Amino acid sequence: MIATPVMIESVETILVDVPTIRPHRLSVATMNHQTLVLVRIRCADGVSGVGEGTTIGGLAYGEESPESIKVNIDTYFAPLLKGMDATRPGVAMTKLRTLYQGNRFAKSAVETALFDAQAQRLGVPLSELFGGRVRDAVDVAWTLASGDTQRDIEEAERVFEAKRHRVFKLKIGARALADDVAHVVAIRNALAGRGEVRVDVNQAWTETETIWAARRFADAGVALIEQPVAAENRAGLKRLTDLAHVPIMADEALHGPADAFAIASERGANVFAVKIAQSGGLTGAAHVAAIAAAADIDLYGGTMLEGAVGTIASAQLFSTFGELKWGTELFGPLLLTEEILTEPLRYENFSLQLPEGPGLGIVLDWSKIERLRRDTSRGASVAMS
Ligand SMILES: [Mg+2]
Repeated sequence: MIATPVMIESVETILVDVPTIRPHRLSVATMNHQTLVLVRIRCADGVSGVGEGTTIGGLAYGEESPESIKVNIDTYFAPLLKGMDATRPGVAMTKLRTLYQGNRFAKSAVETALFDAQAQRLGVPLSELFGGRVRDAVDVAWTLASGDTQRDIEEAERVFEAKRHRVFKLKIGARALADDVAHVVAIRNALAGRGEVRVDVNQAWTETETIWAARRFADAGVALIEQPVAAENRAGLKRLTDLAHVPIMADEALHGPADAFAIASERGANVFAVKIAQSGGLTGAAHVAAIAAAADIDLYGGTMLEGAVGTIASAQLFSTFGELKWGTELFGPLLLTEEILTEPLRYENFSLQLPEGPGLGIVLDWSKIERLRRDTSRGASVAMS
């Protein structure tokens, strides 16, 4: 039975600035806070869906910023969506994609809200609209990015003892190459037998620098190198994959299904970091995963350091992947100092547990969000150091 149409009544966007628990140093930026872009879609049957379009480091990382996501949804997407049938997220998203180029993060936020609302309407978790869960929890890696070797080791030991994480991703690429390699090897040695160590270079190295480091990482037992070279340098990423010192993961090179197909066609990476925002939404991310599976490329569930909404939306999708060999990095909410849910997400036993309720399966604390929300009428933004 096809449902009776339900009108979309409003599309609201909210910027929420939340401090991080410590500076998060990436090769492209140092984050001292995260700006969550929340989207709330209200429908005529009383159902509301939420989505999130958060970025890492804004324009320092990609083409979209929290502010651009908000203004483009408010100015272009919302008027188009208002009055459309909320029971048909596919129709709404096809129209958005046809009319408006790019804006993958903004589209992801809107698509999540539409699917959240529709899944609530049907009384099922969002995962059931994407083929159904094959797992009730996803493994979660922790990112060490304080910039200090000893502090990183202590942090890793703390979260390992608490049974929160046993896989550690080190953010590198901002320092001199030899210093980065020494930093990684020291942490790997300190955690030997306890935690797995991977690195994310966020495009900071050249191909020759990567080859030099990869040999040393292979000797040290580093498990994975994520996006060492520029996203555009697809041929270089493939050559590094062919060298097979350490498995290579594509991240920034993957902007949705078309990139996934191009990289998979030439087997230009061993692993894909699937991200709902980078893929333009849940549907695009599902397609990236399908292409990887068909090409025998491993999957890893990536994050844009989203808060609870984007994190659980990602987890709902990742729970449906047949294989998820490298787990996920869905730790975003743990990096933030403020809780925006009435009940926090459950991180236990090195995993994030999937909620059982309908839609995203979370309840937002709107009075808290109201207190944290940026007053956009003042136009000022929080400085990124
Ligand atoms: Mg990455």
